[in-house]
Amino acid sequence: MSKKYVYMFSEGDASMRNLLGGKGANLAEMTKMGLPIPQGFTVTTEACNKYYEDGEVIAGEVVEQIKASLAKLEEIAGKKFGDSKNPLLVSVRSGARVSMPGMMDTILNLGLNDISVEGIAESTQNPRFAYDSYRRFIQMFSDVVMEIAKSKFEKVLDEMKESKGVKYDSELTAEDMKNVVAKFKEIYKAEKGEDFPQDPYAQLMAAVRAVFRSWNNPRAIVYRRMNDIPSNWGTAVNVQMMVFGNMGETSGTGVAFTRNPATGDKEIFGEYLINAQGEDVVAGIRTPKSIKTLEEDMPEVYKQFMDIANTLEKHYKDMQDMEFTIENGKLFFLQTRSGKRTAKAALKIAVDMVDEGLINEEEALLKVEPKQLDQLLHPTFDADALKKAKPLGKGLPASPGAAAGKVYFTAEDAKNAKEAGERVILVRLETSPEDIEGMVAAEGILTVRGGMTSHAAVVARGMGTCCVCGLGEIKINEEEKYFTLAGQTFHEGDYISLDGSTGNVYGEDIPTVKPEITGNFARFMEWADKVRKLKVRTNADTPKDAKTAVEFGAEGIGLTRTEHMFFEEDRIPKVRKMILAKTEEERRKALDALLPLQKGDFIGIFEAMEGRPVTIRLLDPPLHEFLPHEDDDIRELAKDMGITFEELKATVVSLHEFNPMMGHRGCRLAVSYPEIAEMQTRAIIEAAIEVKKNKGYDIVPEIMIPLVGEVKELKFVKSVVVKTADEVIKEAGVNLTYKVGTMIEIPRAAVTADQIAEEAEFFSFGTNDLTQMTFGFSRDDAGKFLEDYYEKQIYDFDPFAKLDQTGVGELVKIATEKGRSTRPDIKLGICGEHGGDPSSVEFCHNIGLDYVSCSPYRVPIARLAAAQAQVKNPR
Ligand code: PEP
Ligand code: MG
Repeated sequence: MSKKYVYMFSEGDASMRNLLGGKGANLAEMTKMGLPIPQGFTVTTEACNKYYEDGEVIAGEVVEQIKASLAKLEEIAGKKFGDSKNPLLVSVRSGARVSMPGMMDTILNLGLNDISVEGIAESTQNPRFAYDSYRRFIQMFSDVVMEIAKSKFEKVLDEMKESKGVKYDSELTAEDMKNVVAKFKEIYKAEKGEDFPQDPYAQLMAAVRAVFRSWNNPRAIVYRRMNDIPSNWGTAVNVQMMVFGNMGETSGTGVAFTRNPATGDKEIFGEYLINAQGEDVVAGIRTPKSIKTLEEDMPEVYKQFMDIANTLEKHYKDMQDMEFTIENGKLFFLQTRSGKRTAKAALKIAVDMVDEGLINEEEALLKVEPKQLDQLLHPTFDADALKKAKPLGKGLPASPGAAAGKVYFTAEDAKNAKEAGERVILVRLETSPEDIEGMVAAEGILTVRGGMTSHAAVVARGMGTCCVCGLGEIKINEEEKYFTLAGQTFHEGDYISLDGSTGNVYGEDIPTVKPEITGNFARFMEWADKVRKLKVRTNADTPKDAKTAVEFGAEGIGLTRTEHMFFEEDRIPKVRKMILAKTEEERRKALDALLPLQKGDFIGIFEAMEGRPVTIRLLDPPLHEFLPHEDDDIRELAKDMGITFEELKATVVSLHEFNPMMGHRGCRLAVSYPEIAEMQTRAIIEAAIEVKKNKGYDIVPEIMIPLVGEVKELKFVKSVVVKTADEVIKEAGVNLTYKVGTMIEIPRAAVTADQIAEEAEFFSFGTNDLTQMTFGFSRDDAGKFLEDYYEKQIYDFDPFAKLDQTGVGELVKIATEKGRSTRPDIKLGICGEHGGDPSSVEFCHNIGLDYVSCSPYRVPIARLAAAQAQVKNPR
């Protein structure tokens, strides 16, 4: 027997999400719960993968199973697909494992053709409804399946409304809709050179193919990469019997959340439209009504709706996002899923649900996406500045946060401006999935049209980007790139500010301030800290960063990059003297001048960390990075140093490397110039002694030697460090313990980690370099070609952002095991960028590292990711 690729809703349940997709699994679950669900079937995600394996054809066995399921559906519905009088119509919708809003496409009213539209007009005695449904179907099918621009159809509809002197589609008559249908079919014929397909089976199979195809459209690929969704998950296809919200004044359609997705407040939140279908509510065509007014419009329906909404939330133990349709006064649920929410709402909902006794603390920890916390760590408006600012207008507070920047009117302009280093506010009439890259680039999004569930609002909330939508007072000219509001005109590049929590829009650049962890956020993070086993440190090079990180919960410093201190403006001349020294004596003199400055830096950091562990790494980058490269700068420095331009230029040239990433850097510098390591060690130890004495902190400095590949090179540099440190301690006549360890960032170090551990008291995985050296492509250049790899689906994600667990991760694992084999109590951490990436943190937990270290603003993210890793896989 062949594999099962198609399941009736009555054959599945919520646990089959991977196979049926989120939508399919939930429709099955709701069917099981006995809720009013229009029945249907789901073509599995495996069929999608098979479609691609087979070279983008739907296999015969899948087609057969679809036909068999359709026959079952006909029986349930009591109608025949393709019937000329009273046909079964269906919707075809995508549904991946996790919802991807705006990324995939929907087709409604499928099964209609020139003959059955007449049949429906007659059997329902409602010709307006019949033609309205048909024109919608033609437009969606043409757009989604045949890729004919939607705007062509919208133009016809707009012209029709104008000629009839009406504002809304719902005001057009049956005759008008009939004319629209005729014009739509002409567009189709002109574009495709053939008539609109009349065979319902052909329509259905083309729609299924289109859903599979949409899994790999560019927008979906961008969204997946942003959200760590593997390309091999595939999407399922749901074929569901239509129910109609466009049958007249006792019909309608809506979307609702069981709690407020922006604030988390426990109240039903949503919108609906009478006499409407599908996307009408979210597309911002008519302004929808608040779900609360449904209580007056249709009290019975409202009561039933609220009962089911509460049942669903209790059943799934999570805030639900539901779609419903009312057909002639009868309520149907079309789907439910966990609702997207802002980070603020996510925390409030998680904490409230614990207080309500619905979930426990550990379950609550899994309800917030670690990356989402980033939203709360972003600045808010400076309160004083905000008081002085006067809002020009107020839209809907669609996604909270504060954003100030320059206005841009297209996704592409926004993206380019962001790349040029601008803060960007994207201003659009309304957004659509094509705008995704511009929305990603923007600090804030402002739209003229659309409600709280519009595309802009939903996507912005998902990304945590500030968004104000539906500010109808704006007059916008997207082509000529300007808008006017309250008598002021704003052109591309002018500053505005948005407050996503109030909906206020300001015509100026309002300064912002740093956030704090308080209230629900603080309480939630306490739960995370109680659970997690991994410690979280930070990468910080200044006392200011170190303090910020401590406020965000850092338990130590995992990496101080000392070269950042060398780059400071007042230091660079001294550093250059050190580099250009001709003799060791000269170099020592230059280093002596740097010593007090370095010591001052380390004192600042030790003080800021108040006795928490601090790992300081010796100089890492190649020396030529510190030298001037322009002739004018070289001339100036030569003058300053009393040497000739030619002499200095020759030195600069001699230091040039063809491949500096693999050049004279890291511990290789200390091998050539041990005096640099001596100076840095002295600065670290003297600073530790001083802070210990003055402040009483028990400081155990951890000195880290970078870019080791061979145990003997570690042994050599370590001997310099130990000799110096012991001397300084002896001179001071005090007791101080310190540790010497290394970074594991060269594959050779990872595979010889047992030898290296004999010399190193700790390892810190430098996964930036380890990724670079393992893949053999440079961190500085890979960006240029990785885009091609994502597009061709060779890689799903950037290995410099998310750890490649199969390759680089395997080396980390090997080094962990080998390191512990010779030094069982060796301390193990990670300090590459991956230390703040949730999936990489989970990996670090699973292989048993002691800590992760990441930039200050990612510390809370890592704390939560570590807690979630422990909940999922206790160690
Ligand atoms: C690393 O290589 O992962 C690392 C932390 O060091 P750097 O980024 O400074 O090379
Ligand atoms: Mg490195």
